[in-house]
Amino acid sequence: MRILFRQSDTSAGICQLLVCLLLLPGMAWAGETAVEPSGNGVDLLQDSTDEGDARSSEASAAAEEFVEAVPAHPHEVPLADAVDTAEGQAKTLLLLGEEIPPGTALRLSWSATELFEGVPVSTPVLVVNGTEPGPTLCLTAAVHGDELNGIEMVRRVLHEIDPEKLSGAVIGVPIVNVQGFRRGSRYLPDRRDLNRYFPGNPDGSAAARIAYSLFNDVVAHCDALVDLHTGSFERANLPQIRADLRNPDVVTLTLGFGSMVVLHSKPNTGTLRHAATQAGIPAVTVEAGGPSQLELSEVKHGVKGIETLLTTLGMVRKIRLWGDPEPVYYRSSWVRADNGGILLSDVALGSTVRKGDLLGTITDPMSNARTELRSPYDGRIIGMARNQVVMPGFAAFHVGIQADDVTVEEESAPVDIAQKPGSGGYVDGMSE
Ligand SMILES: [Zn+2]
Repeated sequence: MRILFRQSDTSAGICQLLVCLLLLPGMAWAGETAVEPSGNGVDLLQDSTDEGDARSSEASAAAEEFVEAVPAHPHEVPLADAVDTAEGQAKTLLLLGEEIPPGTALRLSWSATELFEGVPVSTPVLVVNGTEPGPTLCLTAAVHGDELNGIEMVRRVLHEIDPEKLSGAVIGVPIVNVQGFRRGSRYLPDRRDLNRYFPGNPDGSAAARIAYSLFNDVVAHCDALVDLHTGSFERANLPQIRADLRNPDVVTLTLGFGSMVVLHSKPNTGTLRHAATQAGIPAVTVEAGGPSQLELSEVKHGVKGIETLLTTLGMVRKIRLWGDPEPVYYRSSWVRADNGGILLSDVALGSTVRKGDLLGTITDPMSNARTELRSPYDGRIIGMARNQVVMPGFAAFHVGIQADDVTVEEESAPVDIAQKPGSGGYVDGMSE
């Protein structure tokens, strides 16, 4: 059953935005390349999914701008029990100044409290409040404005939910970084990465204020959060969940997706995933595909995972179940280019590789010299660059590693990219 969202205001809606997207093919996608840090061959990272990028100095600055995240309501019931222990009647949700009674689907509008460039910038928030009590699950997409697959995932999931058959509520923010989205850019107009500024600060930079507004006006109402991303800078990710598996509620959330690759990853300070989890709201990131494209198979993969999650959390009765869990990768390694030139891949996303297998070649277009990139581990290609011209140090292939293949330093301190610019743990904006 399809539910039509009742629009509560006249601001630019997602449909208009998507039309806008279709009318702007390729525009402004160029010119967003990051300044690559110097690489050092193969990295085996303490935290292989460091989401640092060229703006590490800003991340450092941002660290001074954080305020303590305080959830709007306590989350004392384990996520797995949230539907079973919910008592009484479903409640009217109060969100963004609107009342959403049980059994209602509504489209709201969120604007950061501070106006940007003097013009209010609003973005849609889709809400389905079920007739039965239960937890509130939130979906956020396009925190990086050029990551499009999650936008379509949120649309598909939210419009398929029947509020009459839902326990709890689902809140979807399809385009968090609407300003980046309009420009086809990962960043805010001032080149800041919004996902380095959560939970934000009402008195900080534009990014910190936007982060604060989203966090307090929307995310604080959630009992669990799924933040949807893609690879960045001409890199694509095999659909995968990135989760801090030391947190039991995060494990519940992760296992709920069914058949999706899991990469254990401690979130970095400033990411929405980190801020939400710190505030007691278990959160995971879903990575699927690459930026600036709408990739149908990745979208379907993500939607299937989220709908499975709704079922396993008990919020809906069997939209679909998806068994056969994929492996959990506790470690991973980026294989970097040692030479500049034309990168051509010999493997595909999802390929299983053995130590020493050829992953790709880099050919110098002037000298015709060719070098090979080979896998340093047995594992699986969970992320990779598209064929392109690369500089030395460019991270080309992300290999998920079986944990027993490497020495695992459990519970080691998270690598702080802000403190270690240019270190081996520094990865250039791969993801969230
Ligand atoms: Zn992202």
